[in-house]
Amino acid sequence: MYRESDAKAAGGEAKTAKKTDPAPHINPYDSMLARFNQAADVLKLDARSRAVLSVPEKVVQVHLPVAMDDGRTEVFEGYRVIHSTTMGPSKGGIRYSMNVDMDEVKALAAWMTFKCAVVELPYGGGKGGVKCDPTKMSIGELERLTRAYTAAMSDVFGPDLDIPAPDMGTNAGVMAWIVDEYQKINNNHYYPAVITGKPIELGGSQGREAATGRGVMTTALLGLQKLGLRPEECRAAVQGFGNVGSFAAKLLSAQGVRVVAISDHTGAFYNPDGFLINRVIQYVKANGGTLAGFNEGQKITNEDLLTMDVEILAPCALENVITAANADKIKAKMIVEGANGPVAAEADDILNKKGIFIIPDILANAGGVTVSYFEWVQNRRGHYWTESEINDRADPIMSRAFERVYQAHILHKIPMRLAAYLVAVERVSKGLHLKGKY
Ligand code: GLU
Repeated sequence: MYRESDAKAAGGEAKTAKKTDPAPHINPYDSMLARFNQAADVLKLDARSRAVLSVPEKVVQVHLPVAMDDGRTEVFEGYRVIHSTTMGPSKGGIRYSMNVDMDEVKALAAWMTFKCAVVELPYGGGKGGVKCDPTKMSIGELERLTRAYTAAMSDVFGPDLDIPAPDMGTNAGVMAWIVDEYQKINNNHYYPAVITGKPIELGGSQGREAATGRGVMTTALLGLQKLGLRPEECRAAVQGFGNVGSFAAKLLSAQGVRVVAISDHTGAFYNPDGFLINRVIQYVKANGGTLAGFNEGQKITNEDLLTMDVEILAPCALENVITAANADKIKAKMIVEGANGPVAAEADDILNKKGIFIIPDILANAGGVTVSYFEWVQNRRGHYWTESEINDRADPIMSRAFERVYQAHILHKIPMRLAAYLVAVERVSKGLHLKGKY
């Protein structure tokens, strides 16, 4: 359940980014376009779809003056990018991080379009962000910033228009401020379906908090099956211990996988016997949301974790952690991408040549938006499901999406990432054609 202190401590969907992005020069939008163009080539995509989907439909940039606790006014940069509304209202999270900029938000918005298409949700894709460091802000400052951002985006957001959710650095508490501010702006009409990832008490969905990590686990297990491996004989290294990484680690270990390496922005740890993830989660909760000071494993570097000899590598933190600089050193048999864009496009060929089976972000982390969709459906019906009803609906969606992508991978003899883009781009392009030309 959400507590006020969580907004600051929890670090949101993934661990809050620091300025220490290992490869800040790699433009995530270029990474997105490189994969999109490869898929378009395989599909022999028509020129119109290629042109339309290569660019966002709408970009909004705002400057948000916020009164800080010390009396100063700080002006924050805010963004919302709508990549596509072809398949339905745009859907996608809001990120609070110092790495937020237009190119990052544009890439993340396009990934949402393709992610929603892979799992066949009736949504387009969008993303938002504010360049800020939420770990350095008070609860009051975060609330004022969030309300200012919501007011600035009041004509962008809407239950049938654009539906935000949590992402890195934001969480259910931030969503609660957004739904409240939106209510105030709209003459006190309550529109819970304007945003997902809300606290349960305000119309959030059971299972939403764990959903992204659960999808990582579900798709990883399906990947292991295809590789002929049993979970009990596998080791995993999980990078990032925010919402996605912690639930992925917990659920993988509940399936018998030995989680031998974990990390967050404060450090990385190794334990050959496998960590007791529930204990780690308790530690992090009691420790202001980070692994700092954790002493139940051997201290290693982030690079050690990424290049560890394991069956499963689950990058669940930042973009561009695997690049041409370290791809050759990756030893994992499978990479399951809990984060958005953890592998830069320049690393794809290297990893493919090494025969690493990759479950790409737009498939692996689609469990979150899938349960966001259920939250939106429940809000609109005013009728709520139990956690097991949610999981019983979400799991088959993830499994079917995995199988669709896997079949495209086999049929076209292309890597899983390209197969996922292929499935997604084909679906959105069909939607574009069905809607006509003008
Ligand atoms: N931020 C999450 C993502 O990247 C969730 C988006 C949503 O639920 O709308 O998929």
